[in-house]
Amino acid sequence: MSTIDLSQLVTWRRELHRFPEIGWSEFTTTARLITELRGMGLEVLAGPNVINREFVRGRKADVVERGLALAQERGISQALLDEMDGLTGCMAVFDSGKPGPTVALRFDIDCVAVQECAAGDHIPNSGDFASKSAGLMHACGHDGHMSIGLGIAKWLVENSRSLGGKVKLLFQPAEEGVRGARPMAESGIVDDADYFLGMHIGFIAKTGEIVLNPNNFLCTTKYDFRFYGAPAHAGAEPHIGRNALAGACHAATQMLGISRHGKGMSRINVGVIRAGEGRNVVPAYGEIQVEVRGEDESINTFMAEQVERMAKGVAQSFDLRLESEVMGEAVDLRNDPELIDLLADVVAQHPELTAVAQRSFGGSEDATILAKRVQRHGGKSIYFIVGADLKAGHHQAEFDFDEKQLKTSVELFVGCLQKLMVK
Ligand SMILES: [Zn+2]
Repeated sequence: MSTIDLSQLVTWRRELHRFPEIGWSEFTTTARLITELRGMGLEVLAGPNVINREFVRGRKADVVERGLALAQERGISQALLDEMDGLTGCMAVFDSGKPGPTVALRFDIDCVAVQECAAGDHIPNSGDFASKSAGLMHACGHDGHMSIGLGIAKWLVENSRSLGGKVKLLFQPAEEGVRGARPMAESGIVDDADYFLGMHIGFIAKTGEIVLNPNNFLCTTKYDFRFYGAPAHAGAEPHIGRNALAGACHAATQMLGISRHGKGMSRINVGVIRAGEGRNVVPAYGEIQVEVRGEDESINTFMAEQVERMAKGVAQSFDLRLESEVMGEAVDLRNDPELIDLLADVVAQHPELTAVAQRSFGGSEDATILAKRVQRHGGKSIYFIVGADLKAGHHQAEFDFDEKQLKTSVELFVGCLQKLMVK
């Protein structure tokens, strides 16, 4: 087996770090991934082949347009952009040509809306690979995740003779806001997977720690509710107006009054309300941005159904037209014991690593949607954490991680693939 080259992983990561792109605008990033993966001789699918347009969440037209324009400015070929057809993300397929399982691996590719810090001791500055896009930064380590995915792809190609089965490497757009996994899952690309593996770098573990079974993934659904009424002069003929501001306010207060769930943790937040044009105009438009969460899928579904019903009820009672849009979603996850044991065996081969059996994740991550989809089709899934010392927490301007853990991550994936695919 060939060795894994840390300097190559670092080069990929740093190059990707320079060009961060926010969810659904990752055209430059996707083009670079496709070019790199095809250069290795892999088949790569993109655009509508890996994203089901009907289930796309939280994709803003102006963000997409800006990403496209920037990609053209940067010299990304029109042929690649045509292939993407407005949809970012891609999937590389490694086929050994021999019988064996199909394994799906997932890496997220988007950045965060954070301005990278300017301090001279921030390694991306001293190493000359800081973000070239104002207000955008790979501050969650997804640049590292992509580099890990490329490293695994390279290893697969170099070791194809000793392997059986297939590997699907998913490069998922728009993880932030938990938007990109559902449409990828709904494209059906993981439905034939026997195994699913996903990971995050850093987060809840430091260098040397591998969390085999993170728990407490919160289920969540994010909504925008838009109420459309009718404007009118507030003094002369208010009776012909339909007050969308009143509708939005009523919806917000009703939603905040949803009873807590007796079977486990539930959450609701109405985070944004926008309405009104002028003091003497009956407001014709009102919008609320809402999220619900639940300890498991049934509790989250309970919360989601409540807010949907309230939005509809308010629209009915105030005679408003309602537009509901799901902006993001994630589910909970239970790792399969078979894969926890498998990863534990791989970690045990590395004396420098410590396996942490369980630790609370306490947030939402939409890899869970892909993982659960595989489980529902009879496959097995795991999501784990590769610890990495951080300069600052995720989503902060000073964020940076221990790059040596890129190599650790590839070694762990490769160790698992060897056990699953070498017969
Ligand atoms: Zn992340």
